[in-house]
Amino acid sequence: MASPKITVIGAGSFGNHAANLLTKTYPEYQVTLLADRDFAYNLPATHRLVVGGFSSKDITRPLSEIIAPKVNLIQIKEVIDFDTKECKIITKAGQQETVPHDVLILATGSKWGNPIATQNFGASVDSMAKYIESEAAKLNAAKKVVIGGLGFVGLELAGELGYKFKDQLSSGEKEVICIHSSPENVLDSSYLDSLRNSSRNYLQNMNIKLIFNEKADYDEKADSTIVKLSDSTIENVDLYYNCTGPIANLPATTLSGLETNGRGFVKVQKTLQTLNYPNIFAIGDINDAPGKRIIYRDDHAQVLKQNVQSVISGNTSQLKEFVVKPLAVAASIGPEVGVGQAPIPFFGAVKIPEFLIVRMKSTHLFNEKIEDIVGKVA
Ligand SMILES: Cc1cc2nc3c(=O)[nH]c(=O)nc-3n(C[C@H](O)[C@H](O)[C@H](O)COP(=O)(O)OP(=O)(O)OC[C@H]3O[C@@H](n4cnc5c(N)ncnc54)[C@H](O)[C@@H]3O)c2cc1C
Repeated sequence: MASPKITVIGAGSFGNHAANLLTKTYPEYQVTLLADRDFAYNLPATHRLVVGGFSSKDITRPLSEIIAPKVNLIQIKEVIDFDTKECKIITKAGQQETVPHDVLILATGSKWGNPIATQNFGASVDSMAKYIESEAAKLNAAKKVVIGGLGFVGLELAGELGYKFKDQLSSGEKEVICIHSSPENVLDSSYLDSLRNSSRNYLQNMNIKLIFNEKADYDEKADSTIVKLSDSTIENVDLYYNCTGPIANLPATTLSGLETNGRGFVKVQKTLQTLNYPNIFAIGDINDAPGKRIIYRDDHAQVLKQNVQSVISGNTSQLKEFVVKPLAVAASIGPEVGVGQAPIPFFGAVKIPEFLIVRMKSTHLFNEKIEDIVGKVA
């Protein structure tokens, strides 16, 4: 019998780990990984690039070093369509790569706003560095910066700006304004009040202006200098960062029946199979499963390990399900401050001491163990 063929699209943290694990577990499978760039990045560390805390080189690793040699790594321009019936992958350049597969795994992640718009990094670390350089130039020149959204990403970005521009913010030379829809506090009511209060106080102590109970309306296409609020405006805005949540980075596809939610994320069952195609899985940020966190990377891979084998053998009576475990959450607010909480069964959650969060996350943003994030040969 010919060896079963698995194709993974997207060489990010989830795709790399899945490809390495599948090839190690099932040496008889032919695993192909389609990558639109020759490197992988530590996503949680990206917002420290624009303030110069890390260089692009620091937070990336070449795929050639972290993907198992047995994985068939193909670098393509970009997948723009795929057809499982004909096993055809169509790339952006119009060139048609025919990649046969029995199982397809989508792992193409999310699209973020500037200054961490990974979709604008390009195909090499050099092009990524150019993007960051241009974002840093805009940030350094800007007098008034507005951040729309104070979820985890907005909070962490604001913390980086507060740390970097401490003196300019206190002298009034620079202004950072954050707009958030929740009343009176950062994040949302699913987090402990004590965690939200500390986060808010840290930002205020950094002289960052906070506006609550409002939604920012900014015309990104027109490169506007005005941010509209419900019945007022913020004028002379030099830079606007949209931190109101990512959208899916799904290749445009003519494959009918691949259902997505309002932000384009692929709907999956608990088995991580897409709704209408048992042999197409979606893992990592691209799916609509709860818990878009790198911490679930191995859980997704373990589900795949069992279910891919079941689909290939035709024995689908015992498929494994992805279960979102209640886990600690942590947010850095610059390299020296952080907040976090841990779940306690039956009691809700407890705040984690700040020094632990600083040690766990804020200082290095997981970059001290980057191979655990971007993938490694198992
Ligand atoms: C600021 C920030 C802080 C975070 N902090 C934490 C944290 O503390 N703890 C935690 O658990 N999680 C955290 N996360 C979330 C975590 O980083 C993500 O869940 C994880 O990185 C998603 O990995 P992924 O492989 O799904 O996507 P990505 O890492 O984005 O990888 C997707 C890959 O697919 C490629 N690709 C895209 N489109 C195509 C295409 N058409 N063809 C081929 N390839 C394509 C991309 O180039 C990329 O290589 C954080 C995220 C951010 C932004």
